[in-house]
Amino acid sequence: MIFESSEDIALLRQSVRDFVEYEVEPAAMDIEEKDEIPSRILSMAKEMGLFGLSIPEEYGGLGIGMVGKCALYEELGKTHNGFTTVIGAHTGIGSVGIVEMGNEAQKQKYLPAMASGEKIGAFALTEPSAGSNATNLKTTAVRKGDKYVLNGSKHYITNAPIADVFTVMAVTDPAKGAKGITSFIVEKDFPGFQLGKIEKKMGLRGSHSAELFFEDCEVPAENVLGQEGQGYVNALKILANGRAGLAARNLGSAQKLLDMSMKYAQERIQFGKPIFEQQIIQHYLAEMALDIESLRWMTYRVAGMVDQGMKVIKEAAMVKLLGSEVYSRVADKAVQIHGGIGYISEFPIERYYRDARIAKIYEGTSEIQKNIIAAQLKQEYS
Ligand SMILES: Cc1cc2nc3c(=O)[nH]c(=O)nc-3n(C[C@H](O)[C@H](O)[C@H](O)COP(=O)(O)OP(=O)(O)OC[C@H]3O[C@@H](n4cnc5c(N)ncnc54)[C@H](O)[C@@H]3O)c2cc1C
Repeated sequence: MIFESSEDIALLRQSVRDFVEYEVEPAAMDIEEKDEIPSRILSMAKEMGLFGLSIPEEYGGLGIGMVGKCALYEELGKTHNGFTTVIGAHTGIGSVGIVEMGNEAQKQKYLPAMASGEKIGAFALTEPSAGSNATNLKTTAVRKGDKYVLNGSKHYITNAPIADVFTVMAVTDPAKGAKGITSFIVEKDFPGFQLGKIEKKMGLRGSHSAELFFEDCEVPAENVLGQEGQGYVNALKILANGRAGLAARNLGSAQKLLDMSMKYAQERIQFGKPIFEQQIIQHYLAEMALDIESLRWMTYRVAGMVDQGMKVIKEAAMVKLLGSEVYSRVADKAVQIHGGIGYISEFPIERYYRDARIAKIYEGTSEIQKNIIAAQLKQEYS
């Protein structure tokens, strides 16, 4: 496979593939029914180092580049998306802020425990008044001596019920708009921090998103991530950094749906022959394969650009958009090819169909990705 960066990554990829096939997949229906990831599976993922996917080796992580990460995310995408989201939200938006913007003391303090999975990370940007428009935050942070005092709330925060360390964006200077936002590392045990309601969702069972409340929450000044006033830019960088990884997870899920659909189309007999013999079914499968292959090329191309330190604002938005659109289109065709079974919860297809839907919404909606692409195009053409 031309995209695999090294023999080590190929070996790691094979071990993730085996883990997914022999450990996670057999538990997928159970996860769906109980809305909970078995601790045995989380422990195995931690032992394999998967919680340290984005963390450099010197802090106990796997220390691999974006191409390698995407190879592992692709394999993780081939199983229950709730399980994949618990890992993805921790290794992506939940820890990348500290890896990329943290100072040495912050990295030493937080990253080793996050790499081992002993401490779980989460990213808290969204508020009731600030979704796509993340500059409209109402959570404030006021400096008092050697602390900041946070007041406000967040919602939909993935991993919040299990997280120990949050990257939180809050307004330090309301007069400065986006430049008045600062990012903080907030621990769940800081005074004034409170977990709120856990949301009921369409899918992603086993992955939980919740509200957070800050009531005079005291955060040491040393926990400012980057500089005061850089929080909005930090948030955009953290989200952009994760986009190829998210696309790789969607790629894995779409590939899994194609694999299941090919098998079913060749086994299911109607009108005396496999439904695969119907040209329209072949065309559905051909379109799925084309979409998946396009996504594969783009995902690893963007990942390669990230590893080379290239600017990828437009490309990261494109791959996030393509990943969510491809996953949704492929899931829709997979349901159609499976007919009634595709709609029945005893079989996995309808779960992927529901789980695909979030990809167009979280970490920036499809519409916002198009806005980013258009803004970059305008710059290029002016
Ligand atoms: C399951 C789940 C997990 C999540 N996890 C996290 C997390 O871990 N951390 C976190 O901070 N957030 C998280 N989010 C929040 C998520 O990122 C937001 O829901 C998303 O950014 C959209 O914001 P919104 O829901 O307020 O929608 P809105 O911003 O209100 O958008 C509503 C609609 O209007 C469109 N729209 C808005 N503005 C524009 C515009 N300028 N141009 C064109 N269309 C526009 C949107 O694209 C969308 O279609 C999560 C959400 C969910 C559902």
